[in-house]
Amino acid sequence: MQGAEPILSLKAVRKMFGPQAAVDSIDLDIAEGEFFTIVGPSGSGKTTMLRMLAGMDTPTSGDILLNGKRINDVPANKRPTCMVFQSLALFPHRTVGQNIEFPLKIRGEDPERRKARALQLMDLLRLPQSYYAKNVLKCSGGERQRVALARALAYDPQILFFDEPLSAIDYKLRKTLEKELKDIHRETKKTFVYITHSLEEAMVMSDRIGVMRAGKLVQVGTPQEIYSTPNTRFVSEFVGDVNVIPVTLGSDGLLHSPTGATYKPPRIPPGFRDGHLVIRPEYLKFLASPGEADNAISGSLYNEYALGSRIQYQVRVGETVFVVEKLRQQPFTGQLDDTVTIGWDAQDAILVTD
Ligand code: ADP
Ligand code: MG
Repeated sequence: MQGAEPILSLKAVRKMFGPQAAVDSIDLDIAEGEFFTIVGPSGSGKTTMLRMLAGMDTPTSGDILLNGKRINDVPANKRPTCMVFQSLALFPHRTVGQNIEFPLKIRGEDPERRKARALQLMDLLRLPQSYYAKNVLKCSGGERQRVALARALAYDPQILFFDEPLSAIDYKLRKTLEKELKDIHRETKKTFVYITHSLEEAMVMSDRIGVMRAGKLVQVGTPQEIYSTPNTRFVSEFVGDVNVIPVTLGSDGLLHSPTGATYKPPRIPPGFRDGHLVIRPEYLKFLASPGEADNAISGSLYNEYALGSRIQYQVRVGETVFVVEKLRQQPFTGQLDDTVTIGWDAQDAILVTD
């Protein structure tokens, strides 16, 4: 990835709607073959950004480069890229085969080659060959999603763009399709630029993730980096349940919370004075004695929630609620309302400034 020219490059890209910047001065390079996901809450500017990348809208200022060439004003149908719309954009009352072959038909390919390519793509998308003559309206939601992707791949684009294609699909099928999409990315070796509001979804599939907040790209990194070294409280909380404690760094080298408690700090970012200490639930553990971890707190076991292979616990310490998670197979005999001691090792927490 390093050294090679990026396939897609954004230079200070901005999009104004009236006085509001929906996308605000974004700089970003996406490498060829990368699965890059833009994640952020609703209204953070994801769709606006993708529409500019796909050529459905033009930036107010800044530049978008494809293979080093400025493409700001090149319309979508003149770009070697393709937006994968939700399955709703398929031609109803046509067969799976007709839908997938559509791009090849407008290119004037002969029917035999079109069919061969459609069947090949159906294979890749795990659609049974017998579906070739099936009406798309008779396909399930998941199957239609696969047909929509097969049709996009039939264009043989350099980049595929996805705008929350799985958001309307139920949980179990969505989890399956996320993995399938990652497999398809691997097999096609194409560049995928994907948008979702679910960081969980982004983590499963992506090589790199860009987190958006109010039109700005606030952090870009691998799933591992976003998860383990979020650069702000916003990013840390976006990843899921976390424990966040406001702290000030004291002259004694310890972190002081407003409740008067002090904690041994993890690595301290340069210039850090105050901010938040972030501890993920799986790094909090139940202790038999306070000495078993660098930091320990006593509280009351308020409730437990089964999450499948893990169990989550709520521990209340005064006004503060801590979330603790452990694997189901790890022994634990605590009962509701018991006084329990929880703790974490200093290096298992993260300090963020925001
Ligand atoms: P997301 O996809 O992350 O939910 P959008 O890109 O759709 O966010 O929207 C970002 C912001 O820009 C929102 O505040 C939205 O209301 C605004 N916006 C989007 N499209 C338009 C438009 N065509 N005209 C005016 N405002 C828009
Ligand atoms: Mg959107």
